[in-house]
Amino acid sequence: MRYPLSMKATQRCPKCGGKKLWLIDPFRVPSDTAGGQEMFVVPHQSTGGWVSLRANPVGSFELFLCAACGYSELYAKSFAELEARPDGSVRLLDMTDPKAGPFR
Ligand SMILES: [Zn+2]
Repeated sequence: MRYPLSMKATQRCPKCGGKKLWLIDPFRVPSDTAGGQEMFVVPHQSTGGWVSLRANPVGSFELFLCAACGYSELYAKSFAELEARPDGSVRLLDMTDPKAGPFR
């Protein structure tokens, strides 16, 4: 099976072949502050054994943006501490086990 190549791997736009890419790292979203708010992978990771909605942000994103056509790709960074949430809102779909289906 072949997978489409990523902008991150090739440093080239997979849509138009463009070779000029903007890299925005960390990717930010608008906020009350002029610099914006870094966008976290999970803004409310649990702290220890208790799952809470207390802010404990994990991870960030980097954005690759083609200067020619605008096509963009987001990549998560620093998410090694990510934990599944009991309510299923954060879960790992692990397809490395051949017996596992996508809807377990
Ligand atoms: Zn492009």
